[in-house]
Amino acid sequence: MRNRFVLGNWKLNGSLASNSALLKQLAASVVASHGRQCGVCVPYAYLFQAQSLLHGTAVKWGSQDVSRFDAGAYTGDVSASMVAEFGSHFAIVGHSERRMVFGDSDVVVAQKFAKAKNAGLQVVFCIGESLAERESGNTLSVVFRQLDAAIAANGVDSMRDAIVAYEPVWAIGTGKTATPAEAEEVHGEIRRHLAAVDVELAAKLPILYGGSVKAANAAELFAMPNIDGGLIGGASLLAEDFLGIWRAL
Ligand code: PEP
Repeated sequence: MRNRFVLGNWKLNGSLASNSALLKQLAASVVASHGRQCGVCVPYAYLFQAQSLLHGTAVKWGSQDVSRFDAGAYTGDVSASMVAEFGSHFAIVGHSERRMVFGDSDVVVAQKFAKAKNAGLQVVFCIGESLAERESGNTLSVVFRQLDAAIAANGVDSMRDAIVAYEPVWAIGTGKTATPAEAEEVHGEIRRHLAAVDVELAAKLPILYGGSVKAANAAELFAMPNIDGGLIGGASLLAEDFLGIWRAL
C-alpha cells in the first residue's frame, strides 16, 4: 500500500492576510489518516506563517525549490537547511517553471534534490514533457531522462523516501488535464522503468499527477492504480477547491 498525497503548490501567490484565511481553513478541515497526507508548498517568505498556523495540525508544509548550494555568496538563494529550520516537511524540486523560466537543468535539479534530501526534507521531484515533446512521441524518453539524471547523480537510494510528480507541461495552468488514461499510461511506464532498477522502490514510490487538477476531475484521476494523488497549482489557492480535491483522495 503506497502513501497518498494531495499537495498544494502556491507558486508566486499569496499575502499574509489571504494565506492566514486559507491556512486556518485547511487546518480546521483536514483530517489526515494513515497513508493519506495533505501539504502546502508555499513561497519561502511564508514558511514562518505556515509553521505558525499549521504546527500541530494534519497539514504539512514546505518550499517550492531549494538552493543547490549550502551557504555563501549566492544572493537571493535559500538553502534546504533554512527551509528545514521552519519545520518544513516537503521541498519541490524540478518543477517545470523552474526548469523553463529559471533554466534549471537536469544536473542542477539533481543537485537541489540532494540538498533537500540531506536537509531531511521529503523531495517532491517533478518531471514532465512539453507539448512539442508529447506531439513528437518523446514523452517517455523525456521523463525517463529526467528520472535517470537524478538517479545517476545521487544513486537509486536517494529516491526511497521521495515523491515523484508527473506534470505534463502542456497541462500546467492551462485548464487542459491529461485524461485519466493518458496520465495512468505514463505513471505505469515510470513505475516499470524504475522497476528495472529496483523492484521494491518502484512498488513503493508515490507518483502524483499534476496539471489542472480540480475537484471535478480529481476523483477519476486518483482512481487510477498508479496515480497516488496530486500536486495542485491554481486550485490550491482557494480552500474549498483544494479541500474538494483532498476529499477525492
Ligand atoms: C503545478 O504548478 O504544479 C500545477 C500542477 O499547476 P496547475 O494545477 O495550476 O495546473
